[in-house]
Amino acid sequence: MKRVMRNPYAGVDWSSHTRCKASMHAHTTESDGTQSPAEVIDEHHAKRYDILALTDHDAIPGWPGTERGSTWPWTSYGRDPDELGMLAVEGNEFSLIDHVNGYFTGVWTEEELRGGTHDRFAEDLPWIIDQIGVRGGLAQINHPGRYDRSLSFYLELFDRHRHLHAIEVFNQGDRCPQDRQRWDHLVTAMRRAGSHYPLWGSSVDDSHQASHIGRNYHVYLLPDRDEAALREAMTAGAYWFVHDPRGASDDRHDDGGSGFWTAAPMIERIDVTPAAISIEATRYDTITWSTDDGVPLGDGERLALNDEQLGSYVRAVLRGDGRAATYTQPFYLGAAPAEHQTPDPARRGAMGSDHSDLLGR
Ligand SMILES: [Zn+2]
Ligand SMILES: [Zn+2]
Repeated sequence: MKRVMRNPYAGVDWSSHTRCKASMHAHTTESDGTQSPAEVIDEHHAKRYDILALTDHDAIPGWPGTERGSTWPWTSYGRDPDELGMLAVEGNEFSLIDHVNGYFTGVWTEEELRGGTHDRFAEDLPWIIDQIGVRGGLAQINHPGRYDRSLSFYLELFDRHRHLHAIEVFNQGDRCPQDRQRWDHLVTAMRRAGSHYPLWGSSVDDSHQASHIGRNYHVYLLPDRDEAALREAMTAGAYWFVHDPRGASDDRHDDGGSGFWTAAPMIERIDVTPAAISIEATRYDTITWSTDDGVPLGDGERLALNDEQLGSYVRAVLRGDGRAATYTQPFYLGAAPAEHQTPDPARRGAMGSDHSDLLGR
């Protein structure tokens, strides 16, 4: 029998944690978006978002060709997150050959950028990811399907940079359909290479205009709606992500006041026992499970962990109205220890179930 080595939802109290709808990749007129920061914030507020990261391109002082900072704080653009009841996340899309989002990195000064020339930025993705880490931020690889990078390129990045916590699986609707397969291949390759570091999936609007907003989002499970809780959930993988192709229309976000903010399948709770993973949900038609390299395992609310086809991880997709799909994060699996085996503390530590290990501290 396999057992779950890392349940991303292990720390979630399903009765008390709040489900927070989040957009983690959005552009404004501060870079190549068509709406002002205030308009983009208002559009998300109207669509019942709790969390928003404005991630304009390369918004760093000292970056050649730009004199502005991040699109931050919101009060500089006429909006107060507290008044709106939202959590504002400071973000940046570093647009190298590859694009990478940095969150919680603060405003960069020229001095901090010394050592990185524009050429270096363009060529050296690991360098910018390092810098995001040095500043205590979290990083995510954006729309990998736009680049022809090998699996080993990503393996090396994810292995070396523990704050690089996620990779986009959906971007702006479903612009790069191959990103899903890339995610599965990458998770599988990392596990086969002996890495126990988790790689979470991400679904983002990468919005540049109003019609982009509302199709791709995350639902974080938070004890409190604050930055510390969000960082913890991002690192632990305590969220699911949604692709709702019709999600840009208003009726997908508001039913006239009864309180729903998504028409996509909604997870109520996930239970993990030594025997099975079970999902309770609403507004879904099917729940499909898959394992290594995305190989399907079959449908159902419950996945038995004694299935011989199980590989190194499993994940589920809930499909509902309008082809909306809700994706769980991967549950990493391992073999159950032999019954009389002496526990090896060093090995347990290497599994890195605590966040300090994830963050490389
Ligand atoms: Zn981009
Ligand atoms: Zn973007």
